[in-house]
Amino acid sequence: MPEANQRRPQSMVRRFRRCLIFVSLFCVVCAALGAAVLLQNKFTDAMLTQSCRTVARALEAGSDMERLAGDSEVRYTLIDHSGAVLFDSEVAEVSALENHAGRPEVQAAFAAGQGVSTRQSETLDRQTRYFALRLDGDRVLRAAVDVPNWLGLFLLILPTLAAVCLPVFGMAAVLSFWLTRRMVQPITHMAQHLDTIEADVPYEELIPLAHTVQADRQLQADNEAMRREFTANVSHELKTPLTSISGYAELLETRMARPEDVPEFGRRIHKEAGRMISLVSDILQLSELDGQQRQNFEPAPVDLAALVRDTAANMTMNARKAYVTLQYTAPDTPLMVQGGRDLLAELTMNLTDNAIRYNRPGGHVQISCGTADGCPYLQVEDNGIGIPQDAQSRVFERFYRVDKSRSKATGGTGLGLAIVKHIAMLHGAKIDLRSTVGTGTTVRVEFPAGK
Ligand code: ADP
Repeated sequence: MPEANQRRPQSMVRRFRRCLIFVSLFCVVCAALGAAVLLQNKFTDAMLTQSCRTVARALEAGSDMERLAGDSEVRYTLIDHSGAVLFDSEVAEVSALENHAGRPEVQAAFAAGQGVSTRQSETLDRQTRYFALRLDGDRVLRAAVDVPNWLGLFLLILPTLAAVCLPVFGMAAVLSFWLTRRMVQPITHMAQHLDTIEADVPYEELIPLAHTVQADRQLQADNEAMRREFTANVSHELKTPLTSISGYAELLETRMARPEDVPEFGRRIHKEAGRMISLVSDILQLSELDGQQRQNFEPAPVDLAALVRDTAANMTMNARKAYVTLQYTAPDTPLMVQGGRDLLAELTMNLTDNAIRYNRPGGHVQISCGTADGCPYLQVEDNGIGIPQDAQSRVFERFYRVDKSRSKATGGTGLGLAIVKHIAMLHGAKIDLRSTVGTGTTVRVEFPAGK
């Protein structure tokens, strides 16, 4: 991936810190504002009720309303039972005022003795709080005062808030520094000790990550072990024919071989070289199946019936040499699967070749294809020597052979079934192997339905 496209990871510590500081400041602002609103409302209500009751008592005792209202900050309004305003401490011309019968606090006072309400005042940052009290003689005295609303209160406490936020910011910074270090330290420790990652998981949210890392490391170790084993096996397999070739060639070179032995030595050199060529081509095929071919694999329709007929025709000579009868059954109509023609031919040939080689003179091999439960399949059946139960799961491993000398004597490389397994995997096919020692072996490759 080009460098420019890679996003630089963020610092988790810095991000945690920023979050913690932001959250603490947010909490301080909310708490201050909440407390201010609460106190403001409580204080205003207490003050309004108190002053309204005092004035009401004085009014009922016969005092003059004008004098009682004086130049108090509280606005007093006297309303009669019809809602008409009899007196207003802020408006001289009361007849110009509209009827107050519809005001909620006035209605509540006439109904229940007293009532409160709040309304937005003309300015954006203020609201008016009303307290109304019913007097004897069917009148209501209402006290009102303008108080700041949320916005007004916020503007009011802003300087104090700023002064409080500064030390809070400092404290939050110190605390978050300490906290984030404590939180991140176990993660750093985990990353530095990958060997024991699953035992060291500090937070449960990291368990899936630890599982993945552990599985990945295990896979890497397994791959490394497999690679080493494979290299050792290949070297060993190549060394044997090379040693033979070198020995016979030396005998010929030093003229130590008798003239009548020369053709035999030549034949042996030829045979060993042939074995090496088979081995190298199988290794190449496997490595292609491992990597490149997987990516470049473009499935195309392949007719299994034609494949079975072709393989039978190609292998007839081999079967005859081993005194084995080779037969096939295939439908007359094409049996199509999606895949690689050459790869599937290789798979069928490897299976048929094994069925012939691990057989007895007079034995029988049957190649067939068909459909079972909607899935196309390809099958090679023999009545040869069979595979012991405990070896059946291992025969698909590279270089695993049940009888090494028989495999070598018949030109086996130990890679045939490994190649079969890879080709089947590439096609999403399942291999079903059934075998009984002395009775024979059946290998069925089942392709996915509709492929
Ligand atoms: P090889 O080149 O040795 O045949 P394969 O990978 O094709 O390697 O097979 C692995 C081993 O499985 C063989 O060595 C043989 O022991 C056993 N095997 C494979 N096919 C058959 C079969 N049809 N009958 C009996 N044994 C078989």
